[in-house]
Amino acid sequence: MSRPTTGPTGLAERAPHAVPAAAVGTGTGTGTGTLTVLDPRDDSFVGSVVEAGREEVADAVRRARSAQDAWMRTPAADRGVLLHAAATALRERADEMAALNGRETGKPFDDALGGVLAGADTLRQYAEIGPLHRGRSLVGARDAADFTIDQPRGVVAVITPWNDPVAVACGLIGAALVTGSTVVHKPSERCPHVGRMLGEVLSGVLPPEVLMTVSGGGAVGAALTEQPDVDAIAHVGSTATGRRIARVAALTGAHVVLENGGDDALIVDAGVDPVWAAEQAAVGAFANAGQICTSVERVFVHREIAPAFVEALAAEATRRNGRHELGPLVDRRLRDEVQRQVDEALASGASALVGGAVPSGPGAWYPATVLVDCGPRMTIMQEETFGPVAPVQVVADFDEALALASADRYGLAATVLTGSIANANRAVAELPVGTVKINAVFGGAPGGSAQPRGESGAGFGYGPELLDEMTLTKVVHYGSPVLTATGRAPTDEVAVDAGPGRTPHPQDPAEGGDPDAEGASDAEGDDQPRVHPGQPAEGG
Ligand code: NAD
Repeated sequence: MSRPTTGPTGLAERAPHAVPAAAVGTGTGTGTGTLTVLDPRDDSFVGSVVEAGREEVADAVRRARSAQDAWMRTPAADRGVLLHAAATALRERADEMAALNGRETGKPFDDALGGVLAGADTLRQYAEIGPLHRGRSLVGARDAADFTIDQPRGVVAVITPWNDPVAVACGLIGAALVTGSTVVHKPSERCPHVGRMLGEVLSGVLPPEVLMTVSGGGAVGAALTEQPDVDAIAHVGSTATGRRIARVAALTGAHVVLENGGDDALIVDAGVDPVWAAEQAAVGAFANAGQICTSVERVFVHREIAPAFVEALAAEATRRNGRHELGPLVDRRLRDEVQRQVDEALASGASALVGGAVPSGPGAWYPATVLVDCGPRMTIMQEETFGPVAPVQVVADFDEALALASADRYGLAATVLTGSIANANRAVAELPVGTVKINAVFGGAPGGSAQPRGESGAGFGYGPELLDEMTLTKVVHYGSPVLTATGRAPTDEVAVDAGPGRTPHPQDPAEGGDPDAEGASDAEGDDQPRVHPGQPAEGG
């Protein structure tokens, strides 16, 4: 594992000094301030970054706009080649970037490295599938050609969070760039150095200003979304922010893709092995210290296996805490919010079997926590808890579990552990979420992408469908020209096979007319070029 001994690229080096914890990634960047980052493992000073001002944000959009025309005209295959080069450049800096990510967010090195490599892989995937993204051929009149083409949106604002900063950003940036848009990226204020380094690494192999990066907090993100020249906004982050962005975009007309928060349920049905179910719950709730959008947020366990399941889950949590397996939370602000939700649950009748309290000492550590006797009115069961907390509610049967899991304002994902095909099928059909997982909390095939339901977002933020989000479809109808006496179109050197001469008619299919109407296929069985009636054919 290599670690930067000095600062990361572009890091504003300063002598380590005490910085108030409240200054870390407060998300209140005004566009005129400085972001100060402390290492959440020990509160040591990581660095500081000056936020972009409003005019710099506007300038970044202007530059991205200027670069877009040439980028759009670059053949898609060549854009793919450049994305491959960007992926290679990222891999070459993967260790350095993962170590920096660890310093800024506390992500354990292997997890952070996995995220950087996943980012490089995602760039490669879009480099490959981007040039294959294509329109459809349509069936119109026999003497016409009808099809769709996809065109780039223009300038895309990509606004990303801190919990998997490289992988998430690379997906959105890759899909936008390969389809011919240019990008202005606003990385999270909680990992501004990683965001800036990513921009430098990728920009190093891309044409100038195809990818711009602006540093700052929420106000800088807001300033970016307010730019009238931004054609699309892709935001991965909290639901509250996503809703704000959607309101702004309603005024500017920008297309919006939102991948936001989740409150994922885990249903543990009767009849499954409680130890296996507890392992699944622990992985789902404690991976990345619970800071994953699809973390297990609520556990509904059938009363028949509840005692054995809860005991095994408590053992999983205790084991992880004993081995110090979890990294810290990203900062104390987040930890305070997690503790607030836990305290409220405890005051409302829940009990902590494991964890449930802030440890003493530096950093933003929080233990794997198991809460029992939770109920649906508790905030911890209604809200996303971005920390390693598994709140458990015992249910009478599968019906109750399904009803409770479905009664939620979020709709990102859910998992069901069951041996019953009937119950699994019901869950797939009825759960109002974008992703349903049966008998595995994580996993799934490459390319799986769904629109989040409810307040978890809108549109496809991943997979091949993200290419659709990043493009606009145009329907094209080619009819046949009516030729002049020379049989040549005025500006064509060589007249295209004219087909039967006819003028466009409002009833043509492309005009929304009836393709079966008289005249819609008047060339049936006749492939000879024609000229307008009464005019001699060319050379005739
Ligand atoms: P956040 O919404 O606070 O911040 C994300 C980004 O939005 C940051 O760059 C931030 O500066 C920016 N931002 C904040 N206010 C803004 C505004 N008014 N206008 C424009 N931009 C603004 O989210 P976060 O705390 O960084 O990330 C955690 C959240 O992200 C969790 O809710 C998690 O579930 C979610 N998330 C979702 C997915 C997914 O795929 N659904 C993936 C990762 C994270």
